[in-house]
Amino acid sequence: MFNEYTSKRQKMVETQLIPRGIKDPRVIEAMRKVPRHLFLDEALWPEAYEDHPVPIGEKQTISQPFIVAIMTEALQLKGREKILEVGTGSGYQAAILAELADQVYSIERLPSIAKRARKILDQLKYSNIVITIGDGTLGWKEHSPYDGIIVTAASPYAPNTLLEQLTIGGRLIIPLGDEFTQDLTLYIKETKDNYNKESYGGCRFVKLIGEKGWKE
Ligand code: SAH
Repeated sequence: MFNEYTSKRQKMVETQLIPRGIKDPRVIEAMRKVPRHLFLDEALWPEAYEDHPVPIGEKQTISQPFIVAIMTEALQLKGREKILEVGTGSGYQAAILAELADQVYSIERLPSIAKRARKILDQLKYSNIVITIGDGTLGWKEHSPYDGIIVTAASPYAPNTLLEQLTIGGRLIIPLGDEFTQDLTLYIKETKDNYNKESYGGCRFVKLIGEKGWKE
């Protein structure tokens, strides 16, 4: 359905993503397609395509479009991957991943948030996303190993549980730092015990709360 949000979304891609270096054509296509406003309360739809995070209730936020794009691009998805997301939030990032990978598993700590995400993802018919409620710092062993893991909350360090649940060649993208500012960090698992680490720049996320994150 074409509406005013379709054109706002194309403008978001052209002004916020492409000029800042997002290049993967599949990521660009997914960001052009997924109706980001539908993941927010209707009162916030006018803000959905702006260059900043937006509140989703319970003091949580949907990430800024550029951050979603750069984290997704870092996973270098080709279409056959199994992905784990920690921090379902609105469900928007999960939808972007579901466009680009084969299967997405997503963990959310707050039941009310998870329920809302499930509802909109069902309405949009994303049948390749499975959401569970729990502590994502422990990963989700049952479906591991994952080709990619994305943590969408600020973490004091990269939990070993998540690194262990990656395939060889798998990628973990995670914001590392304190509660005010973090550095997007990519880990590539080269062998069972060897990781290559790369920085993708500064960001600001809400806190990852759990056994291998922050205490409440
Ligand atoms: N990816 C989301 C944004 C996430 S905001 C989106 O696209 O909208 C961060 C989310 O992480 C919040 O919903 C918060 O409740 C959740 N969270 C924090 N700690 C967590 C943990 N240990 N396990 C799972 N979810 C967690």
